[in-house]
Amino acid sequence: MKIQELLQQKLGKSVDTASNTEIYYALLSIVQEMAKEKEAPATKKKIYYISAEFLIGKLLSNNMINLGIYDEVRELLAANGKDICEIEEVEPEPSLGNGGLGRLAACFLDSIATLGISGDGIGLNYHLGLFKQEFEDELQKAVPNPWIEKESWLTKTDVTYPVTFGDLKLQSRMYDIEVTGYNNQTNKLHLFDIDSVDETIVKDGITFNKEDIAKNLTLFLYPDDSDDNGRLLRIYQQYFMVSNGAQLILDECVARGCNLHDLADYAVIQINDTHPTMVIPELIRLLVERGIAMDEAIEIVSNTCAYTNHTILAEALEKWPIAYLNKVVPQLVPIIEILDDKVRRKFDDERVVIIDKNDVVHMAHIDIHYGFSVNGVASLHTAILKETELNPFYQIYPEKFNNKTNGITFRRWLIHCNPGLTELLDKVIGKEYRNDANGLEKLLAYKEDANVLDQLLEVKKENKKALCEYLKKTQGVELNPESIFDIQIKRLHEYKRQQMNALYIIHKYLEIKAGKKPSTPITVIFGAKAAPAYVIAKDIIHLILCLQELINNDPEVSPYLKVVMVENYNVTKAEKLIPACDISEQISLASKEASGTGNMKFMLNGALTLGTEDGANVEIHELVGDDNIFVFGASSEEVIEHYAKADYVSKKFYEEDADIKAAVDFITSEQLLAIGHEENLTRLKNELLNKDWFMTLLDFKAYAAKKEEALKAYEDRKAWAEKMVVNISKAGYFSSDRTIAEYNNDIWHVQ
Ligand SMILES: *Cc1c(COP(=O)(O)O)cnc(C)c1O
Repeated sequence: MKIQELLQQKLGKSVDTASNTEIYYALLSIVQEMAKEKEAPATKKKIYYISAEFLIGKLLSNNMINLGIYDEVRELLAANGKDICEIEEVEPEPSLGNGGLGRLAACFLDSIATLGISGDGIGLNYHLGLFKQEFEDELQKAVPNPWIEKESWLTKTDVTYPVTFGDLKLQSRMYDIEVTGYNNQTNKLHLFDIDSVDETIVKDGITFNKEDIAKNLTLFLYPDDSDDNGRLLRIYQQYFMVSNGAQLILDECVARGCNLHDLADYAVIQINDTHPTMVIPELIRLLVERGIAMDEAIEIVSNTCAYTNHTILAEALEKWPIAYLNKVVPQLVPIIEILDDKVRRKFDDERVVIIDKNDVVHMAHIDIHYGFSVNGVASLHTAILKETELNPFYQIYPEKFNNKTNGITFRRWLIHCNPGLTELLDKVIGKEYRNDANGLEKLLAYKEDANVLDQLLEVKKENKKALCEYLKKTQGVELNPESIFDIQIKRLHEYKRQQMNALYIIHKYLEIKAGKKPSTPITVIFGAKAAPAYVIAKDIIHLILCLQELINNDPEVSPYLKVVMVENYNVTKAEKLIPACDISEQISLASKEASGTGNMKFMLNGALTLGTEDGANVEIHELVGDDNIFVFGASSEEVIEHYAKADYVSKKFYEEDADIKAAVDFITSEQLLAIGHEENLTRLKNELLNKDWFMTLLDFKAYAAKKEEALKAYEDRKAWAEKMVVNISKAGYFSSDRTIAEYNNDIWHVQ
C-alpha cells in the first residue's frame, strides 16, 4: 500500500482534515510497522551495547529518513497543507541520557543497524528522565521530565526476569524501541523497567523518597548521589540494568545454540563507561549457577566483555564502598573478592587492585582486568590513558589498549537537522556521501567556486534566521541574524570552561562600554544543564543568565553583543542550534575532554572550531590544517605537568593582568549584584581566584586573542566560506559508521 493510503486508513479521515497530533500518531504507527518488517535476522554472534544512557532524541523523522520515506511523507503532507516540522513538534524527546556519552550510544545504535551488524542496546527506562531545566530568578530549576506517553516508540514485551537484591526481590519488564538503520535492517534498544514505579512519590522539584526502591528504581537517570541513600539507589539501578542484561544475553545465546562454554562466540558485550561494570561479576555468577566452574566462568566472561573509558576526571571513575555492595548486591561480593584475590596474587601493585585497602571497589579496574579490550575515545585520550591515567594497567596489558575515535550519525546531524546544506551537497557532489561519508571530500574541489561559496553562506544565513525565529518564539529574545553566532552547548562543567566564555563576554562588554565597538555584532549562545548537586556549575549558569539580563537590556551594548542561554538544552535544541553556528566553542582544559562529539557536529555543519588541543579537536585540527581552525591555550603536556607539580596559582594571573582582574571583579560588580544573588556570584568569583582547578585564568588571554582573530576572519566572507568548505569536506572521518566499522573489525568481529 502507498503511504498516502496507509496514512488515510490510520487516520480514518483525509490528511488535510487531520490535526498535527493525529498525523503524528498515525505516522508513528506506520513507521513502527515498517521498522518491524526489517528486523534483523538472528546471526550466530551478536554485539550487546550496554549503557546507563541512550540520548536518542526524537525518532519520527530519523526513522523516516532511515526507512527511505521521509521525502515522500514531507511532500504528501505539504500537498495537504501540513508542515512536517510542526508534526515533529508533537513528539516528546525521550529523556534517557545526560550528555555526550549517551548521545554516542544513540549514534552507535544507528550505525550498527546501518552497517547491518547484529546488535542491540541494553539500558533502563527512566520515567522522568534526567530532569527538565527551567530558569527562574536567573537560576536553574530542575523539574521532572516525563516523556512516556500511552502511544510511543516503546513497545511493552512479555520478557520479564527476577532480580534479587540484598533486601528485596523485583520482577522486571522489558520494553523495546526499534532502531532503524539507514537503508538497512532494524535492531533493538531493550529498556528494562518495573511495573511498580510510582511517579507520584516525586515532590517539590525532583525530590523523592530514595529508600522506596520498588517505587523509585527507574524514576530518574543519575539520581542525586550527594547522600548515602542516593548512592545506594545508583547501585540498585546499575545492578538491575546488568542483571536483566545478563539474563537476556544468556537466554538469547542459548536460543541461538550456545552451550555457555562458548559464550564468546555468541556474544560480545561493550561496556559503555563503568556504570554497567557489574555485568562482569553478574555473568560469572549466572554461569556458575548454571554449572560452570568458577575459573572457567571468569575466563568465559573475560573473553566476552570489552570496556570503553570515557573520562580521565578522577571524580568520575566510579568507586563503591564494599559495604554498599554488601547491602544491595551481597551475592556479587564473594565474586568480586575472588576477582580481587586473583589480581593480588598476580600483581604486587596496590594501584591495580580491585578492592583497595579502604575496602572500596574500583569499578574500572574490574573492567580492565576482566575484559579483553580497553578503548579510549580519541587518540589524545587513549594516549593519556596509556601514558598516565591507566599506565600501570597498560604496563600489564599493552595488547588490550586501543583507540576508537568517536563519531556521530550523519543521518541525524546532517540530513535531518540541516536540509538546506544536504540539498546543496546533493546538488554539488551527488548523493554518494550519504552512504560513504568520506565522499564529502569531493566538496573540496569547489573551494574556489564563487557560486558554491555563495550558496553555502546563503544556507548558513537561512539557518540563522530560522534559529532567530525559534528563539523568539520559545524564549522571547530578539537576535540579529547578521551577527556572528558563537555557540557553546554541552553539559555544564568547570572543565568545559563555560566560565571562560562568560569572562570573555564581560571583557567584551567592558570594551564596548569604553567605546571600542566590534565591527560585526556578536551573539553568544549557551545551552547547558548542570547536575543538580553541582553548586559551582549552577553558579556559572547564574552568571550567564545575569549577563544575559544585563547586556541584552543595555541599549548601548546590545546592538553589538547579545547573550542567550537556551533553556533545557537537549537533542532537539542541538538540532536547531548547530546548523546555525559560525563559531563552535570547544574550549575545555587540554587533557580533560576525552573526545567531544559536539565539536564534530559543528564541523559537519560548516562551523569553525575555536578550541584547545583537546579530545577530538586534535584530530579536527590535523584534518583541516592550521588555516581552518582557531586553536589556542596550554597543551595537555603543560597542563598535566601543572597538576603534577601543583604549581598553578590562579591569583597570580588575576594580579598580573588588568583585563583578567577587571573581568573577574565584574562578577561581583554593582551591576551584576543588582540582577543576581550575592551568594552565588561571590562563591563563583572566589572559586576562580582561590582555586580555579581547571585553569581558566591560565588560558584566558590566549582565548580572548584567538577569539578576536576568529571574529576578524569572519569579516572576509569569501575566505570564511572557503574554511567552511574545508571543514565540511573533512568531516567524513567523524561518521559513526567509521567508528563502528573499527569497533567491529578490531573488537567485536560480528559476522
Ligand atoms: C552531542 C551532544 C552532547 C555532547 O556535546 P559535547 O560538546 O561533546 O560535550 C551533549 N548533549 C547533546 C544534547 C548532544 O547532542
